[in-house]
Amino acid sequence: GHDHALLLNEAYEVLMRSSSRKADGFGKSRGGFGSGYTGDGYSSWNGPIRSQALFVDENKCIGCRECVHHAGETFAMDDVLGSAHVEVQFGDVEQQIQVAVESCPVNCIHWVGSEELPVLEFMARPQRKEGHGVFGGGWERPKDVFAAARNFAKKLERQEQQESSRGANGSISSCLFLRIENHVKFRD
Ligand code: SF4
Repeated sequence: GHDHALLLNEAYEVLMRSSSRKADGFGKSRGGFGSGYTGDGYSSWNGPIRSQALFVDENKCIGCRECVHHAGETFAMDDVLGSAHVEVQFGDVEQQIQVAVESCPVNCIHWVGSEELPVLEFMARPQRKEGHGVFGGGWERPKDVFAAARNFAKKLERQEQQESSRGANGSISSCLFLRIENHVKFRD
C-alpha cells in the first residue's frame, strides 16, 4: 500500500508538471473558451518551419482535386468533407506548389504567416454550435474563417490579458491578432 501511494504521488506530480507545461504560453488547451485548441496546427512540415505557410479556405474549396493533382505530397482531399486541406507544408518542390496554388479555380489556397496557421487550421475544422437544450446544437464551420480566427485571437488576447494581470505572460496572441488583422486587410 505504501509503495502504491508513493507511485501514485509520483504519477500525479508528473501529470501536473506536464499540464502546467501545456498551460504555459499560447499553446495551451483550455477547458472553457477555446476548448480543444492546443496551439499546434494540423499540418506537418517537410523540413524546417518557414515564415510562410499554405492554408486552404475549406469553405470556398469546391473539391476539384487540382491542387492534389499538382502537389499530392502537400495537399490531400478529405472525402467526407468534400474539400482539400494542406497535409504537409512544403511536401512538394516550390514550383509544383506554385502550380497547385495557381490552378485552384476559386483561389481558396492562401499563403499565411506560419504563426497564424494553428488558429486558422483550428477554425477551419467544424466547430461545436452553441445551442440550448437538445435543440440548436451540432457542428458548423465558420463562414469567414479569417474573421473567425481574428475573433478567436481577440478573445484569447483578452483571456491572456486577464491571466497576465495575475502574472502570466500574455503577449503572444497579441502578435497573432495583429498578423491576422494585417492578412485580412491585405486580402480585402
Ligand atoms: Fe479545393 Fe482549390 Fe484544391 Fe480544387 S484546387 S480541391 S478548389 S483547394
